[in-house]
Amino acid sequence: MCAACRKRAPKRSLVRFVASGDTLVLDRDYRAHGRGVYVCPDERCYAEAVRTKAFARALKRSSLAVPEGLRKEFLDFIALRSEGEGRDG
Ligand SMILES: [Zn+2]
Repeated sequence: MCAACRKRAPKRSLVRFVASGDTLVLDRDYRAHGRGVYVCPDERCYAEAVRTKAFARALKRSSLAVPEGLRKEFLDFIALRSEGEGRDG
């Protein structure tokens, strides 16, 4: 389930994040240990999850840093995944 819009979808179609220490990191391989949090491969859901602190809540952290570069990493990751699916732009 997406932490931002609550849409239900297979986990593999969502993007997984985990906490590494007190920092949010992208789990590209869906293999990182520990609790994961999922969002749609959609910039809006990512932004919403950051804004509402849904990541920290889902990972049960009182403080969780979202690195500056993580948004770009997320966008690159979903762009790569959607290649060949007929995206326009
Ligand atoms: Zn979503």
